[in-house]
Amino acid sequence: MDEFGLIRRYFTSLTEPTDSVVRGIGDDAAILAPPGGHELLMTSDTLVAGRHFPLSTTAFDIGWKSLAVNLSDLAAMGAQPLWFLLALTLPAPDESWLAGFADGLGTLAREQGIALVGGDTTRGPLAITITAVGAAPAGTALRRDRARPGDLVCVTGTLGDAALGLRLTGHRVAAMQDEAREPCAQTRLDLETLRTRLDRPTPRLQAGLALRGLATAAIDLSDGLAGDLGHVLAASGVGAALDADALPMSDAFARQAESAERLALQAAGGDDYELCVCLPPERLAAARRALGVLPLTVIGTISSEPVLRWHAADGRLLTPELQSYQHFDER
Ligand code: ADP
Ligand code: MG
Repeated sequence: MDEFGLIRRYFTSLTEPTDSVVRGIGDDAAILAPPGGHELLMTSDTLVAGRHFPLSTTAFDIGWKSLAVNLSDLAAMGAQPLWFLLALTLPAPDESWLAGFADGLGTLAREQGIALVGGDTTRGPLAITITAVGAAPAGTALRRDRARPGDLVCVTGTLGDAALGLRLTGHRVAAMQDEAREPCAQTRLDLETLRTRLDRPTPRLQAGLALRGLATAAIDLSDGLAGDLGHVLAASGVGAALDADALPMSDAFARQAESAERLALQAAGGDDYELCVCLPPERLAAARRALGVLPLTVIGTISSEPVLRWHAADGRLLTPELQSYQHFDER
C-alpha cells in the first residue's frame, strides 16, 4: 500500500464531515470556517514509542491516547473541540496496526465530535504528532494566570492511577503470584483498571466547558500535580497550601498502592489527564453541580506567598521530594 492508499483507506473517512470543514483531507491545506465571535485555541502534542507509552501498548490505545492528550489540553482551556491534524511517522505500513490505531483514534474523535482535517505521513521510528484546534466565545477561555489568593485548589476525578498502572505493569505476574499462588480476582481487576487509566485516559472536555465562568485558573494534569500546579502558581504569581491526605484516590489505587509511595504517585506520577482548577469558595457548589457525576475534590488553598506547601490532614507540614516528569532533565 502506498502513502496515498494508506491515507484514503484509514484516515479520509475517519470522522464525519462537519459544517465547519469547508475542505478537509485531500487538498494542500484544509479550509475551515471558525464559529463567529469565538477565539481559536490550538495545541500540539507528540507521542514517541517507548517514551510516552510502553512498547506493549496496543495500536488502539496508542490511537486513543494520541488524541486524548491533545483533547485534555483543550479541556483545560474550556474549549469546544473542532478539528485536528495527524502527523504520523511509521516504521512500516503494517495494516493490522494501522486498523487498530485508526479505530482507537476514530472512536475518541467521533465520541467528542472533532474532525480529522489533514496531516502528514512519513516513514521512520514510530511517533505520532496531533495538532488539535478548539474554540471558545471570545474572552471566556480558562487560563493559567488568573488564580487569586483565597481560591480553592480542586481536582477532578482521582490521581495516581496511571502512574501506578505503569509501575505495576512490569510486576503484574509477580503481584498475582504473591497472592498465595491463587491469582486473586480483585488484584487482576485492579491492575486492569489502573492500566486502562494509563492507556485510555478520558479527556475532561465537558468539565472544562462547564467550568468556564466559574474557575479562575485551570490546567490539565499530564506531568504530575506538583509540577503542573506549579505552572499555575508561577503564571498567577501566587502560592498554595495543599493537603496531601485530601488527594482523591480510586478504590483500585487505595487497594494496590503502598502507603509510602502514594504521595509520589499522586502528586508527581503524571499521565492523570484530570483537571486542576482554582476557584473562589463561593463558587464550589455551582462548580460541583456543573460537573454532575464527575467528583471535584478540594485539595488546598491559594496563598499570596509564592511557595507550594504540603501538609497532612492534621496540619503537620510535609516536605515531600516530588519530581515531575521532564524531558532533557539530566538528574
Ligand atoms: P502535501 O504533499 O501537499 O503536503 P500530502 O501528500 O502530505 O500533501 O497529503 C495529502 C493529503 O492527505 C493532505 O490533505 C494531507 O493533509 C492529508 N494527510 C496526509 N497524511 C495524513 C494523515 N496521517 N491523516 C490525515 N490526513 C493526512
Ligand atoms: Mg505533506
